[in-house]
Amino acid sequence: MHRRSFTLALGASLAATRAPRAARATDAAPNIILVRFGGGVRRAETIGTASHAPFLRDVLAPAGVLIPDLRIEQIDGSATSHAEGTLNLLTGRYRSWVDAGSGFLDDRLQPVEPTLFETLRDALGLASHEVLLINGEDRPQEEFFTLTPDDHRGFRVKAEMLSLHRFKLWAARADLAAGVEGAADRVEQLLSVDRRGETPDPSAPVAGFWQAWADRWGRDGLRNPRGDRLLTELARDAMARLQPRFLMVNYQDPDYVHWGNPAFYTRAIGVIDDGLRTLWMAAQTDPFYAGRTVFVVTPDCGRDANPLMNVPFQHHFNSPEAHRVWAVVAGAGIPAGRAIDRPADQTQIAATIAALMGTRMARGEGAALDVGA
Ligand SMILES: [Zn+2]
Repeated sequence: MHRRSFTLALGASLAATRAPRAARATDAAPNIILVRFGGGVRRAETIGTASHAPFLRDVLAPAGVLIPDLRIEQIDGSATSHAEGTLNLLTGRYRSWVDAGSGFLDDRLQPVEPTLFETLRDALGLASHEVLLINGEDRPQEEFFTLTPDDHRGFRVKAEMLSLHRFKLWAARADLAAGVEGAADRVEQLLSVDRRGETPDPSAPVAGFWQAWADRWGRDGLRNPRGDRLLTELARDAMARLQPRFLMVNYQDPDYVHWGNPAFYTRAIGVIDDGLRTLWMAAQTDPFYAGRTVFVVTPDCGRDANPLMNVPFQHHFNSPEAHRVWAVVAGAGIPAGRAIDRPADQTQIAATIAALMGTRMARGEGAALDVGA
């Protein structure tokens, strides 16, 4: 591919971010940590009476604003899926994507409207590593969220992404540059995950991050934590080393319940809850984040509550609970102990985050929620 054009594009974007920041007002904007409580979760097992997320329900929600009835609109041709829900959160719109080659249970959707990533980069003059997406190892389909088609350069980077896949690619490319035997095959095999062949090189700060990660965990990807615990570790490390102003963590493991074991689901909710506590505590003690960071926590989609289903907890059948989730907004400047007692809409999350950062989603459909900031 377009390796050369990509490198040029990256160079151009890095050069652009060296310009002085535009406005003091945006420098005063908080940092945002958006936690996708993902893999599809129901209200009952998260904020409800059957919760397996005690930190979320009993500590974080009371510390901020709880939106207990956040709805995903029923639209023809739309589904309650992880990729769609995530893009609803990122674009503040419904169906703002093109299919980039989906397979069975494998949505590969690419946004075609501005996401929070480029909106916040443009508004605050941020470098690509200051808007970060932390992704799961086995969801290469979510590699697409940080790129946008561009008429002039093929595509451009909206944000950088940290995932085990990206780490392995960094390591294989480093081996290739050092002339290690077999490295070319590894690079090719890893790149084949993205059928468009457009996985970008990391920026210099992110390459430095991977070097430090390799020094700590080795290069084989086997000694670091796995699953959603890995996402917590990547996020905490990224906060310390890269200081993103907007960090999105795409937790995902409750989705293993597709295969029918409810214990996988409730255990995975507990792992995300532990991650939330870890990131919240890190934000309270790190001077870059303490007192100037807002957490926004919300699922990608819900799950059905039909006890008669052969395999419970599915989310592809448009049942009401698959369309009904929640959000918690807590942190700097957000009043504690409030709940919004009206139904809200998933497209309002992007608008709310943009408003907290002093800007707006120009193409968003939902209005910002009044979270009292
Ligand atoms: Zn699923």
